[in-house]
Amino acid sequence: MHPLKHIDAHMDNLISELQTLIQQPSVSAKNEGIQECAQLVKKILEKAGIKSEILRLKNFAPIVYGEIKSKKNPNRTLLFYNHYDVQPVEPFELWDDPPFSGKIKGNKIFGRGSSDDKGELITRIKAVEALLKTAGDVPCNIKFVIEGEEETGSVHIEQYLKKYQKKFSCDGVIWEFGYVDSKNRPIIGLGMKGLLYVELSVKESIRDAHSSLAVLIKNPAWRLIEAVNTLRDSDGKILIKDWYKEAEPLSKKDLEIISREPFDEKSFKKEFGVKSFVSNMNGFSAKKALVGNPTCNIAGFVSGYTGSGAKTVLPKDALVKIDFRLIPKMEPKKQIFRLKKHLKTMGFNDVSIKIFHGEAAARTNPSDSFVSKVKEAADQTFGKSILNVSNAGTGPMHSFVKILNAPCVSIGSTYMFSRIHSPNEFARIDLLRKTTKCFCLLIDKFGNN
Ligand SMILES: [Zn+2]
Repeated sequence: MHPLKHIDAHMDNLISELQTLIQQPSVSAKNEGIQECAQLVKKILEKAGIKSEILRLKNFAPIVYGEIKSKKNPNRTLLFYNHYDVQPVEPFELWDDPPFSGKIKGNKIFGRGSSDDKGELITRIKAVEALLKTAGDVPCNIKFVIEGEEETGSVHIEQYLKKYQKKFSCDGVIWEFGYVDSKNRPIIGLGMKGLLYVELSVKESIRDAHSSLAVLIKNPAWRLIEAVNTLRDSDGKILIKDWYKEAEPLSKKDLEIISREPFDEKSFKKEFGVKSFVSNMNGFSAKKALVGNPTCNIAGFVSGYTGSGAKTVLPKDALVKIDFRLIPKMEPKKQIFRLKKHLKTMGFNDVSIKIFHGEAAARTNPSDSFVSKVKEAADQTFGKSILNVSNAGTGPMHSFVKILNAPCVSIGSTYMFSRIHSPNEFARIDLLRKTTKCFCLLIDKFGNN
């Protein structure tokens, strides 16, 4: 039987195994069902004919590793990166069915993890299984790295990658997720932005005071506002010295891809209820910003009294949380140093800095042959696809690219509006089927390089 026919003939099996996966809670934020889910994933891999083991490092959530060697082409390896953990289900009362039900309604299968990331994982396993069951071999070596801490920031993935660098070595990585837009076009993502998350605070006095004393006691909220105001101009440009020094500009090819990318500005604005964008960007400049602009965003600002009514108080302290998105070649450590130096030079020695998270950006060259293979497989399956130079968000892609030294591309089955991280998350069965077929074709193309 042809592997694509095999996929059609065994969709029931794909669905029931996805249901089993959804029904096993695996909330990393609460350490709920993590070990059990890792065992379950191992079992599913083995049932598909993929050799599997559980890797453990310290007391971190285990990684489920799967591997199948190709008999005819043992010199080329494709690695699938996925995760078996899920986001918490709260608010519980907003779910129409229990969050771990795996209930099917028409073309949709519901439950936490149905798309993110258990749905994505099952398509990849089933694609490999279809090849194995129909040909008794795979066109290239396949590896699975399935982690259990993605939804809590993949904080230990780099340590795992370093320890198992040899074991995980490969020639291409398929990222854990991929979106399909409302016109059924898969989005092929070639990168992710980096992130620097910091907290700035000012403590002025040992307790809140009557606000009449504002004539004498300095207000820490004002002080922090003054400091924060030096970081960025009103057009979004970051004013810290050398902030953009190493930042890699978009290439001609990147710009070409961006110009071809669809962007429904009107419905985007409607979705968020906004009338205009930062610096009045529109059309091409807005698309370009999503892909290639660093940001300095205030994520939260707390000080004094924010309850109802009036309270004339002079707060003792003030705190702001800021996230900076980074683009390729901007090194988090260097940027932290620059931020600290900036505050010092501007005279804000009294502003304390706490660093939470630093992660570099990653981008795969659109001219890499891996990209064209993914695009061919996607176009063949879906009829059309969209290339995206970089996601506006952040993920640990850089660790993979850097440590495994392989190009990394994201493509998957997640319908854009499938409510991932929200109540009533679902996966579309038609997309699960198509994506499984797409991976089958991709593995074949990749193997027959
Ligand atoms: Zn997620």
